[in-house]
Order: sequence, then C-alpha cells, then structure tokens
Amino acid sequence: MPESHAPITASELTAARAKYAHERERRVRPDGLGQYRRLASDPAAAPHDPFTERVDRPPLTDHVDALVIGAGLGGLQTAIRLRQAGLERIRLIDDGGDVGGTWYWNRYPGVRCDIESYLYMPMLEEVGYVPRWRYAPGEEIRRHMVALAERFDLYRDAAFHTSATELRWDEDGARWHVGTDRDDAFTATYVVVSSGSLSLAKLPGIEGIESFRGRAFHTSRWDYGYTGGDASGGLVGLADKRVAVVGTGATGIQVMPMVAEHAARTYVFQRTPATVDVRDNRPTDPEWAVSLTPGWQQRRMDNFLAIMAGDPVAEDVVQDSWTANAGLQRKMITGRIDRSVDPAERELAEELLDLATMNRLRDRVAATVRDPETAEALKPYYRYQCKRPGFSDDYLEAFNRPEVTLVDTADTHGITRMTETGIVVGDQEYEVDCVIFATGFETGISGLLSGSLMVHGRGGTSYFESLMSGFRTLHGFYSHGFPNLFQLSLFQNANSVNYSHILSEQARHIGLVVSAARSRGAAYVEPSHDATEAWAQVIEESANDNLDFLRTCTPGYYNSEGQPAEMKISYGPGPVAFHRLLEEWRRTSIDEVLVDQPLRRMS
Ligand code: NDP
Repeated sequence: MPESHAPITASELTAARAKYAHERERRVRPDGLGQYRRLASDPAAAPHDPFTERVDRPPLTDHVDALVIGAGLGGLQTAIRLRQAGLERIRLIDDGGDVGGTWYWNRYPGVRCDIESYLYMPMLEEVGYVPRWRYAPGEEIRRHMVALAERFDLYRDAAFHTSATELRWDEDGARWHVGTDRDDAFTATYVVVSSGSLSLAKLPGIEGIESFRGRAFHTSRWDYGYTGGDASGGLVGLADKRVAVVGTGATGIQVMPMVAEHAARTYVFQRTPATVDVRDNRPTDPEWAVSLTPGWQQRRMDNFLAIMAGDPVAEDVVQDSWTANAGLQRKMITGRIDRSVDPAERELAEELLDLATMNRLRDRVAATVRDPETAEALKPYYRYQCKRPGFSDDYLEAFNRPEVTLVDTADTHGITRMTETGIVVGDQEYEVDCVIFATGFETGISGLLSGSLMVHGRGGTSYFESLMSGFRTLHGFYSHGFPNLFQLSLFQNANSVNYSHILSEQARHIGLVVSAARSRGAAYVEPSHDATEAWAQVIEESANDNLDFLRTCTPGYYNSEGQPAEMKISYGPGPVAFHRLLEEWRRTSIDEVLVDQPLRRMS
C-alpha cells in the first residue's frame, strides 16, 4: 500500500522525466511489432495442444440456433445467456481442446488470476461457488468454467480444436453459413464472435531461434512432460537443468519463482522490468464465505468497477493494490477522466501521483533484492500506466537465490541471438537446457477485424472491406449489413482492468437482445446505418486520446512497441456510465435493432 514520501520537488520531476526518456530510448526498436513472430506459424514451436489430443471427427452439416466463436470467458458467458434466453442448440467452438480460452492455454506453474477471484470468476452465485483463494490459481478458474459449461449443457453441440474460417449470410434463409478449418458446413441463426484480445501467442523473432537444440516452449504451451509437476509446482524434471525464462511481464513474474525453486540454474532474460506491487494473496476465510448474502458478487464487482473508473462509492470493498492505485489506471484502462479540471493541471497531478507510486515500487525492489546491481536493474523507470502492472510477493525475493541470475538485455534490445546450446546477449553466451518464452500475445484484433475470418453479410458485403470506410457498430456489438452477428470486444464498448466484468455485461446484453428478438418475433437483429454512424460519433467525441502519452511510454503492447496508432477505442465516460446507457437503451430503444421485415433495411 502507498507509503508517505516527502513531496516531489520540481527538480526530482525533471530528473525523472529525463531518466524515463533515456530508458525508453534504450529499448525502442525500429522494427516495432515486426520484431515478433506468431507462435502458431512458427517452425521453432510447431502448433500443438499439449493438453488435449486432437480427435478426427466428421464435418458438421446441421443447423444450430447460435454459433459462439471462442469458448473463453466472453463466449462461455454469452452461450449461457443465450441458453437462458431459451435457445436450444448452441454451438461453442474454439481452437483449444475445451472451454477456458486464456485459462485453457495458460497452465504454466504459478498461473493465477491477477484480479481478485471473487470479482473475476463469473457467475459464482449461480453455481453456489466461492473461490478458495483471493487470487485463484488458473486451474481453479478453468475448472469453474468447465463446471459452468456442464451446468448449462454447452458441451452437447460444442466443437473444439475448430476455428471458424468463413461466415456467409443467407438472406432467404435468414441464417449464417459457417465454414471451419475442419471442413464443417453448418448454419446458425445467430453468430457471436468472442475470440479474445490476447489470444495469439507470440515469440521474439530472434536470429537462430530454430537452431536451439534444447527444449523450448511458450508459457501458454507448457511442457509438463519435460518439467514434471503441474501448475501448483513440483517441477522435478528441472532439478538438473539450466533454464532460461525470457520475459518479465505479468506472466514472467508469476512463472519465474516456480522455476527458480526447482531448476539447477535459472537465468531471467529481462528487457524491461515490471512493476511488482504487493499481492497479499490468502485462502478464502470460510466464515466470510458463509456470511455472504445474495447479490454479493455483483455488488462487489460493481464496487470495484466504480472505484477503478473513478465513480463515487461509499467504501472500497476490495482494498487491494489495484484499488490503492486506481487513480493511475483511469487514463489507460477505464477511460474516465475528470474533464472539469484544467487538462494541464490534471496531467501534472497525475504525473506526480505516478512518480510517487513508482518511487514506492523502486524502493520495494531495493528493500527486497540484496545484490545492489541486480536491484538497480530490476527497478522500473517509466510511467506506471505504460505497462500492465504486476503483483507478486515472491518474484523479487527469488533473485536472492544464489542459483538465479538476472540478465539485463535492455542495451541489446532483447536477446541478440540463439545458438544450438543457448542464448547470446551482446557477445556473451548463456548455455541452457531449456528456454521458456514468457513473451506475451498479439493484441486486440479478432478474426473479424483482421480479416482472417471471412465474413460476407447482406448482399455479399465483406466485413473486412467495410472497415475501410471506418469501424461502425452500435455499442460495439453489431454492424449494419451483418444481421444477427454480434461481437465482444472493448472497441466502441467499455474497458476495465477486470475485463471479465466487461465480458459479463456484454454477454448479458446480447442475451437480453436475443431474448427480446425472440419474444417479439423479429426476423433478425441489426442496427440501422444511422444508428452506427451516430455511435461512432459518440466514441470519436468521448474516447480518451492517449496518443501523446503513449508516445512517451517505454515500448510494450500498450503502445504497439513504441509506435502507437491513433485510435479512439472505448466509451469515454467509462464502464459504469456505459452499462447505465445500455440499460436505458434496452428499456427505451431496443426495438431499433429488432427488424421485423427482412426487406425493410435493404435500401
Ligand atoms: P507481456 O507482453 O506483458 O510481456 C512479454 C515480456 O517478454 C516482456 O517482459 C517483454 O519485454 C519480453 N520480451 C519480448 N521480446 C523479448 C526479447 N526479444 N528479449 C527479451 N525479452 C523480450 O506478456 P505477458 O504474457 O507477461 O502478459 C500479457 C498480458 O496477459 C498481461 O499484460 C495481462 O493483461 C495478461 N496476464 C494476466 C494474468 C492474470 O493473472 N490475469 C497473468 C498473466 C498475464 P519488454 O517489456 O521490454 O517488451
């Protein structure tokens, strides 16, 4: 929690700005996003699913009421809401071997939810479950998702290890024709695209990566056959191994202490240090669990959402490192900023608060890591909001182990190259047996927006080509010309650090719209062209413009590796206001998307 520091002086602020700019320059690379390669197409790490065997099956040729693409938190919750709306045949498809999305793939040792599980794990009250830990292990989250899928009978029509490749609207049949990479050719009345925002694993495009002869894998494809153990530890296979952990983001700081506990030697290849704040994880108090009253989860989620968004609340129910630093998240994540304050004044106040927080976090490093050189290299020098904050009570401590070595790669812009036997930084080679890439994921773009999922709407219009004249949706969910097609994302919708909550609201909204369409006998759901134009204007006028700020940030996925694009993303007044707006819209205006005459919108 924040400690009191002496007030920051003008010269301290000037020095911090100069230091941050210098540290940024050390890391910026001209190749930006081009420095990475996609795991799925990488010969160095052939695409495979280490968790579930891929089974041959005949192509699907039937009709379903709804196809939900993506069985992660968004798709699963939407499928449940569609079930509750009365849909009988719901087909969840996913390229993973089961439901879970992020939590299906990310089973690395130490994986945990970094938002309180009581807020993050959806529909706890519906299934009468209280997580066992404040920040739940990934396996607990994954099992909860499996339990939800079972409870709402979503396995019946599901298809795993399956990716949608094409959607084609059939005007006469008022349905979508669906093609997949398994040669399926079925139809669906409704289609929901929920393919996630950080789902495509990436590897650094390091010279020689293919030549490495030891074992190498990405954290989202953990090889327990090699390491032994499971997500809770026991990595006995590493006992005689020299292991490299590449990357020190939210994943790297969770995985590294587990590796360090078991490996003979651990090298941590760091390019930019993460912020590492207090975690304070603990088992759930059983007395607290039984004292919870109906509606507790929604109230807790709403409280957290409001605090993070800067909306007034009577108390801070969660009281963790997120809420303690809530003021620093609003610009980047939740969108809401106080426009009644003079912008320059607001920026300065924010910068001072940011510096105080970063000073506290740098002090935490110095107080924990005994070797001064290692401690200095672990201190983050950038604005708090430039990267997703990290939390751990054992990561920094692990550097005090004699068999753990930090290799700072800032001056070489990351790893220089790989050889058959190890990793080279500058001209020094580190021989290792195993390389674990905690190097993150491509951001934000679903197949719908990238064009990898071909979508042809009314009159054969290509969704991807329609984007050339601008992204036009109503509330982020649906576009004119693409009936009965919904998408979940933060674009033209809302955002929060508890993204699971955002997805819950999106799922609920889609369920309610489909329910209304069914009860009123609408032929399909589609917003008018004018409604999407008007909403695009609302986003343009209200969304935060963080471009200048992002340009000053150290490279990372928030700013497209130092080359941020101009983009107005989410509803400016923030998620609480957005959810209120949706509620009001459902009460007063839902009919505007319920089309009863198929030809009415042909003009
Ligand atoms: P990140 O993109 O945050 O981190 C990737 C890491 O790899 C960075 O430290 C990066 O350094 C480093 N890296 C990349 N290329 C190289 C290179 N060539 N040489 C050396 N280092 C390199 O990915 P994560 O998987 O850590 O996290 C992604 C997101 O997933 C998080 O921000 C969070 O939103 C989510 N997440 C959530 C968790 C949860 O508990 N809910 C847990 C884990 C992740 P640099 O910083 O210099 O680019």
